Amino acid sequence: MKQAQEITGTLFNIMRFALHDGPGIRTTVFFKGCPLRCSWCHNPESLAPQPQILFQGERCLACGQCATVCPHGAIVLVNGVLITRRDLCAQCGACTLVCPAEARVRMGAAWGVAAVMAEVLKDRPFYEQSGGGITFSGGEPLQQPRFLEELLRACRRQGLHTAVDTCGHAPRAVVKRLAPWSDLWLFDLKILDAKKHRHYTGRDNRLILANLRYLLQSGQRVRVRLPLIPGVNDTAQEIDAIGAFLAASAPPEALHVLPYHNAGVEKYHRLHQHYQLSGSQPPAAAHIAEVVGRLQNYIDPVISGG
Ligand code: SF4
Ligand code: SF4
Repeated sequence: MKQAQEITGTLFNIMRFALHDGPGIRTTVFFKGCPLRCSWCHNPESLAPQPQILFQGERCLACGQCATVCPHGAIVLVNGVLITRRDLCAQCGACTLVCPAEARVRMGAAWGVAAVMAEVLKDRPFYEQSGGGITFSGGEPLQQPRFLEELLRACRRQGLHTAVDTCGHAPRAVVKRLAPWSDLWLFDLKILDAKKHRHYTGRDNRLILANLRYLLQSGQRVRVRLPLIPGVNDTAQEIDAIGAFLAASAPPEALHVLPYHNAGVEKYHRLHQHYQLSGSQPPAAAHIAEVVGRLQNYIDPVISGG
């Protein structure tokens, strides 16, 4: 039988000194792969479960080393400019190993439990001083449940506080199994209307709402996070529906309103992907305050920001 320490998962980043992913100073471990395709997602590199190559053209020195090593002939010179043929690229990563400017970066790598623990334990003094800990985010950490479970258990053995940041789209059996091992859930709630949810995220929301209700009603510590997206989920009617759903389920320990921002748009270009909400602007401060005030009719506290 495979030992816990041998279990591996795919991550795309480990970020130290995170201040908006739960209480205190935290290390956030980003899992790769997500079942949703939210139109406003600012981490497009997190969506596919497998590693991907990110090209940052502004860093390129045009040295040609990547073209020399590419075993698939996917990098070609066209009118003096190096072009990557997406149809030929096998995402092998050979070009990222020789690029002197980090213009080509491999997003995503296999990690073992022991390697992740060695990384997160570096900041134990900061967690202890600030009441912080480890947050598992993504992507969607529940997409790799065995890996996540082993990490949560390892953190518990080390006395580290844990949080799981989830979109909630996972089988109930997975949520139930992991619930006792996470000290806190950061649960994204986006849109209550099922049809609209499917339109903007690619998935129905019934499983998500049922999982959220399960966690709330089974006494787990849950902080709900509402991304406020102009023109998508910010009407008075939609905000009231979200407030009423939470109040009727069992109120979370806090509701965070996370205003839309478009900081991730450039990443879509680097991954040769289309950004669906181009042209959208962050909500005005007055509108955010109005939404927070409306939600306070149902939940306490309601907090603007992470
Ligand atoms: S990832 Fe591999 S196949 Fe793709 S361009 Fe780089 S070297 Fe070529
Ligand atoms: S190796 Fe890097 S810097 Fe050199 S041409 Fe390729 S992408 Fe540009």
